[in-house]
Amino acid sequence: KLFNELQELKGNIRVYCRVRPFLRGQGSSNTVVEHIGEHGELVVLNPTKPGKDGFRKFRFNKVYSPASSQAEVFSDIKPLIRSVLDGYNVCIFAYGQTGSGKTYTMTGPDGASEEEWGVNYRALNDLFKISQSRKSNITYEVGVQMVEIYNEQVRDLLSDDTSQKKYPFFWILSTAQQNGLAVPDASMYPVTSTSDVLELMSIGLQNRAVSTTALNERSSRSHSIVTVHVRGKDLKTGSPLYGNLHLVDLAGSERVDRSEVTGDRLKEAQHINKSLSALGDVIFSLASKSSHVPYRNSKLTQLLQSSLGGRAKTLMFVQLNPDVTSYSESMSTLKFAERVS
Ligand code: ADP
Ligand code: MG
Repeated sequence: KLFNELQELKGNIRVYCRVRPFLRGQGSSNTVVEHIGEHGELVVLNPTKPGKDGFRKFRFNKVYSPASSQAEVFSDIKPLIRSVLDGYNVCIFAYGQTGSGKTYTMTGPDGASEEEWGVNYRALNDLFKISQSRKSNITYEVGVQMVEIYNEQVRDLLSDDTSQKKYPFFWILSTAQQNGLAVPDASMYPVTSTSDVLELMSIGLQNRAVSTTALNERSSRSHSIVTVHVRGKDLKTGSPLYGNLHLVDLAGSERVDRSEVTGDRLKEAQHINKSLSALGDVIFSLASKSSHVPYRNSKLTQLLQSSLGGRAKTLMFVQLNPDVTSYSESMSTLKFAERVS
């Protein structure tokens, strides 16, 4: 108990860095990652400045090497995900430039085998399995929503009017009130089996893919959010319990050269820039225990407000492409992460 309180005093924001491997068939294999330590150390080498002065050292709660598996990553965050069933609100983000492995970490590669499943599948599967195992003491209902934020507009990724499984609107509304949920109008589905998990993920991914082909890689320019709501009832005392989990695959953080883009592309870039810096500002003010937390500066931070700060627990995966050609993007990613950790 005392240990838990001490942990809480230390703050509830963690930053894990994950370096993706070089991909097969990719030309260069010169890496900027000089060293990965066991205690979260990361040393990056500036390719234009070889030698003693070209090193930059970072420290995070944890750094995963390119060899780390999906199972290894998930085993570290399992306790965090399980705490949702004890009534905590948890938010997990993947941040990084396009191609750095955000979707791989959160969802897995296209057509993933069970071994390649990302955090989303594993978290949902774990939550419904544990809720089953506690059935004799607490009854749980687990509901899932999936939305996308594109140009500050929220879109429901699970809207599929043909499904009979959806939770009725009043259920969503009462859960929304208890959980401080900001999108009560997005559809919500119950999860009671692994096949439910697979079905939901595939509906969400299909809906995302539709806009991707239409708008040329839109998926890298929108934030996608899987939200898991948990309602529990203690069978002995009758007291209710609510928790939620947000799993966020953020838009690519790469800076866009304003001199090269115009129109829609420029608007997209400005929206992304605005929401990522709003997120950085919120996490930074939470980490520095500032009295004012600027939640209202973007749709993203408004939507996640109940899961950022207070008793909520936050984890950011900072994704890196190790290639020398990504050096300057990697540095700006690492500096963003350094500021919030
Ligand atoms: P992002 O979502 O940040 O744009 P992706 O997740 O799509 O990046 O990753 C880019 C490519 O790298 C994909 O082909 C993906 O399968 C691969 N990839 C990313 N991380 C890993 C990893 N840890 N192990 C193996 N392949 C990876
Ligand atoms: Mg992606």
